[in-house]
Amino acid sequence: MHYPEPISKLIDSFMKLPGVGPKTAVRLAFFMLEMKQDDVLDFAKSMIDAKRKLLYCSECGHITDNDPCYICGDQQRDRTTICVVQDTKDVIAMEKMREYQGLYHVLHGAISPMEGVGPEDIKIMELLNRLKDDEVQEIILATNPNIEGEATAMYISRLLKSTGIKITRIAHGLPVGGDLEYADEVTLSKALEGRREI
Ligand SMILES: [Zn+2]
Repeated sequence: MHYPEPISKLIDSFMKLPGVGPKTAVRLAFFMLEMKQDDVLDFAKSMIDAKRKLLYCSECGHITDNDPCYICGDQQRDRTTICVVQDTKDVIAMEKMREYQGLYHVLHGAISPMEGVGPEDIKIMELLNRLKDDEVQEIILATNPNIEGEATAMYISRLLKSTGIKITRIAHGLPVGGDLEYADEVTLSKALEGRREI
């Protein structure tokens, strides 16, 4: 099936999104053609704005429109504890719980030999750099409860063993193989409460 070029370009763009196959891309492209001109412009503008205005916090790696982010910039927060997560969406999940008062560190991924992701490909060095001042007393490893998340937690805990900083891993009870970001607040809160030293 041959589409006029602007449509095929739009279809190609949609296919770059995760979980969108050719059929869905065609459906979305044609849906967009039916949308009101203003709505399409708004849609395009919000994509461009999000991309232009958002950046990663230079301290913790969380997504933000101000650097440092509101969490790192909040002097009321407990600066002795850093919770290490894989994804910026995990920070949002943890914050929804409203229990955790410490800081975060976003790794932007997890170690996965299968996918060729090594320790140097995620923000582990940045984490080590944050530990240079003696303020931090506990690192909570809250990577996902799957193979990659566990491997990453083990790697970091070994790396930090000699620092004398208390290293804890959030408790299981999170759905195995699941993502932290999808855990409900009660499960997440229990997992944090039941963290153990490793
Ligand atoms: Zn931050």
